[in-house]
Amino acid sequence: MKVLVTGGAGYIGSVVASQLVEAGHETVVLDDLSKGHREAVPEGTRLLQGNLLDTGFTRQTLSESFDGVLHFAALSLVGESVEKPEIYYRNNVCGTLNLLEAMREAGTGKLVFSSTAAVYGEPEEVPIQESAPTLPTNPYGSSKLAVDRLIGAVCGARGLAATSLRYFNVAGASGRFGEDHHPETHLIPLVLRAAAEGSSVKIFGTDYPTRDGTAVRDYIHVEDLGRAHLLALEAAGPGEHSVYNLGNGAGFSVREVVEAARRVTGQSIDAVEAPRRAGDPPTLVASSEKIQADLGWKPEKPELETMISDAWTWMCDHPNGYG
Ligand code: UDP
Repeated sequence: MKVLVTGGAGYIGSVVASQLVEAGHETVVLDDLSKGHREAVPEGTRLLQGNLLDTGFTRQTLSESFDGVLHFAALSLVGESVEKPEIYYRNNVCGTLNLLEAMREAGTGKLVFSSTAAVYGEPEEVPIQESAPTLPTNPYGSSKLAVDRLIGAVCGARGLAATSLRYFNVAGASGRFGEDHHPETHLIPLVLRAAAEGSSVKIFGTDYPTRDGTAVRDYIHVEDLGRAHLLALEAAGPGEHSVYNLGNGAGFSVREVVEAARRVTGQSIDAVEAPRRAGDPPTLVASSEKIQADLGWKPEKPELETMISDAWTWMCDHPNGYG
C-alpha cells in the first residue's frame, strides 16, 4: 500500500512509519516539524514538510494518490489545551477536516486516527470499554472526541473506511526511535531524566483512592501500539468507523513506575510528593478486548520493566534527544 503518515516525525508516528517501511509499504511522512524531529523521519520514507491547516499544501499532498492515511499530527498537551483551547480546536479539528476533504477529493479510502483515553474523562467503570460514556474534561480530549465524531459522520456519508485508536499511556522506544518532547510532561521520561541527572521527580497526588494513593495508568509499549495501526489499516471496511481502546488492561501506579525505574536503572531516584495535577483522573485502565477479538491484536511487550528499560536504553544512547 502507499500510505501517508501525518505527524510521522513525532514519537509514535516515527515508530509506526518505520514499521510500515519494514512491512513493505511505500511510506510518505507529512510533518511541519513544530514538535517532530527531522532526525526521527525513518529511512526509506519521504518527508513533506507542512501543516494540515495549509489547505493548498494538504490538497497537493493528497493528490499523489494514497491508499491510506495514518493521522498522528496533533497538539496533545492537556494543560496547554486548557490555557489555549482555540489552537487545540483549530489544529486538531480544522486540520483533520482539511485532511478529510483532501482525501475525499483525491479518493483516498482508508484512515487510522490517533484518538485518546482522554475522551472518557473520569470514567465510572474500569477497565474502560469503548461503550463507556465520553465526557472529556479538557479541550484536548474534547477536540479529539470532536474528530472521532467527524470521522464517524464522514464514514457514513462518504464510504470512508476508518478506525479511531484510543491510546492509553504510550511508553518505551523502538530501535533508534524514542520519546523527545519539549516540554516533557510524561511520567516515564521524567523519572528516567531524574535517574540520569541525579535530580528528583514529583509524584502528583498521594491521596487518590488507589492501592498506594497514587494515580494508576495503563502503559502500552509503543511497538505494540504501532502494530495495532497496521492491523487497523488492513482491516478497515468502506463506510465503517471502528473505535478501539489500546492498552495492556493492567494498571500501574505512579509509585510502581518509580520503583520499576529504580530497578531498571540501578539509581535511587528521588521522588518528591506533590499535590495532584489538575484534571488527572485517579485510574485509567483500558479494556482492549474488542481489538483483541476483532483484529487479533495482543500486546507482545506488556511488562512495565521492558517499556522502561527500552526508554532508558534510548535515553542513554541519546542524552540530548534527537538534538
Ligand atoms: N505524573 C507524576 N509526575 C510527573 C508526571 C506525571 O506524578 O512528573 C503522574 C500524572 O499525574 C499521572 C501519571 O503520572 O497520574 C501519568 O502521567 P503522564 O503525564 O505520563 O500521562 P497522562 O496519564 O497524563 O496522559
